[in-house]
Amino acid sequence: MSSLIDLYSDTCTRPCPGMRKAMASAEVGDEQKREDPTTNLLQERVAELLGKEQALFLPSGTMCNQIALKVHCRPGEEVIAHESSHIINYETGGPAANAGVMVRPVRGEKGFFSVETLERAISPIDNHLALSRMLSIENTTNRPGGYVWNLGLIEQLCTLAKEKGLFTHMDGARLLNASASSGISAADYAQYFDSVWIDFSKGLGAPVGAVIAGSSDFIEQAWRYKHQLGGALRQSGIIASAALYALDNNSERLVEDHQHALVLANALKENEKLMVNEVQTNIVIVDCSETKQTASHWRDQLYSQGVEVSVMDDYCFRLVTHLDVNEEQIGKACDIIKKTFGS
Ligand SMILES: *Cc1c(COP(=O)(O)O)cnc(C)c1O
Repeated sequence: MSSLIDLYSDTCTRPCPGMRKAMASAEVGDEQKREDPTTNLLQERVAELLGKEQALFLPSGTMCNQIALKVHCRPGEEVIAHESSHIINYETGGPAANAGVMVRPVRGEKGFFSVETLERAISPIDNHLALSRMLSIENTTNRPGGYVWNLGLIEQLCTLAKEKGLFTHMDGARLLNASASSGISAADYAQYFDSVWIDFSKGLGAPVGAVIAGSSDFIEQAWRYKHQLGGALRQSGIIASAALYALDNNSERLVEDHQHALVLANALKENEKLMVNEVQTNIVIVDCSETKQTASHWRDQLYSQGVEVSVMDDYCFRLVTHLDVNEEQIGKACDIIKKTFGS
């Protein structure tokens, strides 16, 4: 299986020897006593990267989203997010189960939405209505295809949200991909948000972990919910060291993943029946309905030749580039794609 070119997701990376070495030699202590030096260092580094007072290491991005909901919202209140967003679709009903929060999904191209759309979604103050309490923005937008938000639009949306008394939250699972693509720093994106997090187990290539940042007050409250949800750890430096290694070694190289995604998209486009999304980061989405074959069919065809892609729905599949697929493998994948689809 080692020859498999795995484009299923950027979550499938394995720690490289350098990362494993960093993990093996990490200095550790009791995280719950806030005495794990490596975890503390990681938290300081991410707080600085995102321009926030403090940050907190968590086992997953999902827990970052769930804790943000719990800190910002009371049961019965509402979170506004795009209908495609992870926080609504892929967290097993977490907003309802963990925070007692209602979701108000909004629509828009590529996972974005306009100021007018947000304006319409925010409930007026009325005893019949749920209070709109949190705006969540995903950057990059995952399911729609890895799109990067316009900074000016973010500013407008967050300004409106603040005026109406909403907290603002950014799901930055792939925020560093957004920065690598746009050249806008993570802190510049983060400045409009009360809470923001980055994932280490996606394109950054660590095996586990995410870090959420915000004001000291937000982070103090987040600590409580981290314990409540069972996410408080002990010698977490062993895994925090992998995240530190990823920050130092794997964030600059995200641009390579974006170039690779473009190369794959161009190979796919040689078949005019395939509709390939505009590539901005490391995600390529392909609509194969015109081929009259299902996405599962094409997935199996590619898999039997050593390329794994993921099926999104009946006629849509996805390829995601990451640090465990190098230039040579991308070239090989393109050959297999051209052979499979012809033109
Ligand atoms: C992966 C992902 C998450 C969840 O992160 P985990 O670390 O897998 O829990 C949340 N939001 C987005 C946009 C993601 O891509």
